[in-house]
Amino acid sequence: MNKASITDYKYLEGTKVLLREDFNVPINKNGVISDDKKIIEALPTIKFLMEKGAKIIIVSHLGRPEGKVKPEFSLAPVVEKLKELLNKPILFETELFSEHMQKMLRTMKNGDIMVLENIRFYPEEEKNDEEFSKKLANLADIYCDDAFGTAHRAHASIAGVTKFIPSYCGLLMAKEVEVFTKLINEPQRPFVAVLGGAKVSDKIKLISSLIDKVDCIIIGGAMAYTFLSAEGYNVGKSKVDESKIEYAKLLLEKAENKKVKIYLPIDHLVAKEFSFLADYDTYTNAKFPQDGIGMDIGPKTIKLFSKVISQAKMAYWNGPMGVFEYKRFSKGTQAIAKAMAENKNIMVVGGGDSAAAVRNFDLEKDFYFVSTGGGASLAMLEGSELAGLVNLKDKE
Ligand code: AMP
Repeated sequence: MNKASITDYKYLEGTKVLLREDFNVPINKNGVISDDKKIIEALPTIKFLMEKGAKIIIVSHLGRPEGKVKPEFSLAPVVEKLKELLNKPILFETELFSEHMQKMLRTMKNGDIMVLENIRFYPEEEKNDEEFSKKLANLADIYCDDAFGTAHRAHASIAGVTKFIPSYCGLLMAKEVEVFTKLINEPQRPFVAVLGGAKVSDKIKLISSLIDKVDCIIIGGAMAYTFLSAEGYNVGKSKVDESKIEYAKLLLEKAENKKVKIYLPIDHLVAKEFSFLADYDTYTNAKFPQDGIGMDIGPKTIKLFSKVISQAKMAYWNGPMGVFEYKRFSKGTQAIAKAMAENKNIMVVGGGDSAAAVRNFDLEKDFYFVSTGGGASLAMLEGSELAGLVNLKDKE
């Protein structure tokens, strides 16, 4: 995939740019942003557009207000943060398509920024409504998408709008697309996929297409218990998706036929209760206690997984190895992050919890790339067409 970047567009001065950002930041009860990483990551494209004299209309979602105006999901705190970071006034428009908005648009000067209120306050957004998309597109001359984390969603401000105006990648989006295109088109072998986390139903389908692309797959986190159950092991009271055990068996069979090695945990930190204070012991697969919950991979597994990662020429990681939010069960995730950070080949971590873990362990700088997209990066890797990318202009 070779998409044109906004830097390829030569006529930005005075041009109205509808800029899709991912400002879906965590905001606490007092309206304070607890992690502004997504806003910081948006700055290079915003600053670039400002310097080139574009008129910037920013659209983003925040949380899941389900098509209703819910003040707790307002982008107002984000606007305040942006003002602080850019040291300039910013227009905040709460009434989309209103007279007031049209007037503001007419008075915008080159380099000015207008932020639209949470686009998910409008039910048409998630329905990818055609008329709504057209009206959004009519606000600007061109569209720029810098929200890789949502690029897989067929929503109006991501996909719909691209049908109606020339559409380009923002700087961050261009980098994301470049990295994942490299992973798909120029695999360096051994290519290792490391999957963890809890959402088995989301990720299990992906494993089938990964088997066609990678040399081995490491599976940890809660997901491993569905696979260990498929192999006939007792996993006590660990989190298992019963409805996916049969499918997991098929995947194990497919991998074997394709000579793709699947590595599952061989030992575990097992607790009696799901709590951050829970006492735990280490057990191998054969000795897993009936009343135990697997909370993290054990030391032998850490050694095994780390060795496999150390030999990789390319690796992609998505999903924690254990309940890493609880300090005592974060060792597995930390060890994987460390093993990848120590490997100087192409090590990529895909969004969500694993990217957050890499940042928390202060290892971000040691990675080839830390993606801002979890679901979107998995979709790229799977080779599926991302709704938000389809109509973005190709590089000439
Ligand atoms: P996901 O969104 O699919 O990447 O899942 C992330 C979540 O998986 C995190 O909140 C982890 O606490 C959770 N998780 C990882 N390992 C386990 C486990 N062994 N048991 C229960 N939850 C887990």
